[in-house]
Amino acid sequence: MLKQRLMTPGPTPVPEETLLELAKPVTFHRSGQFRAILAEVLEDLKYVYCTKNLVLPLTCSGTGAMEAAITSTGVPGDKAICLISGRWGERWRNISKAFGLIPIEITVPYGKSVSPAQLEAALKEHPDAKIVCCTLSETATGARNDIKAFGAILKDKPQILIVDAISGLGVMECRTDDWGVDMCVTGSQKALMLPAGLAFISVSDKAWKLIDANTQQKSFYFDLKKYRDNLKNNDTPFTPANTLIKALKHSLKMLRAEGIENTWARHARMGKACRAGLSAMNLKLLAEDPVDGLTVAWVPEGVDGTEILTRLEKGYGVKVAGGQDTLKGKIIRVAHMGYMDMFDVLTAVSAIEMVLVEMGHKLEPGAGIAAAQKSLTSGIKAKA
Ligand SMILES: *Cc1c(COP(=O)(O)O)cnc(C)c1O
Repeated sequence: MLKQRLMTPGPTPVPEETLLELAKPVTFHRSGQFRAILAEVLEDLKYVYCTKNLVLPLTCSGTGAMEAAITSTGVPGDKAICLISGRWGERWRNISKAFGLIPIEITVPYGKSVSPAQLEAALKEHPDAKIVCCTLSETATGARNDIKAFGAILKDKPQILIVDAISGLGVMECRTDDWGVDMCVTGSQKALMLPAGLAFISVSDKAWKLIDANTQQKSFYFDLKKYRDNLKNNDTPFTPANTLIKALKHSLKMLRAEGIENTWARHARMGKACRAGLSAMNLKLLAEDPVDGLTVAWVPEGVDGTEILTRLEKGYGVKVAGGQDTLKGKIIRVAHMGYMDMFDVLTAVSAIEMVLVEMGHKLEPGAGIAAAQKSLTSGIKAKA
């Protein structure tokens, strides 16, 4: 028998309390009881987002909320500066194109982060741009982008800042209001410790001004004004995934109990340990400035990355992710986000080490796990 361990950067493991809620009978959503739960969940989301603004709940995957951000603020012919550090940044460009906006692409090679200077240069060249789209945690490469710096640049500018924080919110510092993020998007299946099916988007006053001035709204379902109006009564314009929202209440309470800064610290510690472990196995890390919710490493020369994944899953019950598109077979992506702790990191490092030994990769067995353990121990003080 093998215990199955889900270590992909979405979906992620779901805590027991949340799973138990999901096992309960389905209830009707237009009720005082559900409205009270929704109100509570939206308050707790504001806490996780570090925002005072409304966070709108959408029933869709994360991409739906990205699409909602674009279609509610932009109209055909508008310029959208897209800061692209990987596949998810590319998604901003693709959504913009799909709705007739003109994407201004600022692209960096895989593994790099977009620099604030690049945003400044893009704004200088395109002062007429309407929106700026970027990614907090680029899940395709493990690169982190400096949202705080982007926000500071846009502070007194007309453009709004839209952030895909889907694999970053609830993992790494993300101060929506303090950093000047106008629309911040996340999905339920990453650090919010829930199955896929819900997405959320925060909206600042600056963004609402654009939305209210938009007379060419191209989406019916994702018309954010409808959500705002309905939420005045803690209601939603369409049937919400109320079962998921009731379950989310439990996951959010766990985050509240931990404290958001402690949540960030836990992920930082896991990220550091995982990077130490993989590096000690002679694996090269992809990202220069890495995120904390996942670790991305190149597979060694001459080793088939797809085979690593198959062996990990079939032989060890450990499910990690590989590369997408042009990175397929070339990288592995190990998640440590959401309902995970340091022992999950040790498990992943250990399993990868065993698979690499099996495949004849040169390494000292135990070197990875020792380095990860050492990293985790470095913060511990001896107690009498
Ligand atoms: C997972 C992820 C998405 C996902 O979108 P879905 O529509 O939920 O599949 C978008 N952006 C980032 C950075 C992600 O990690």
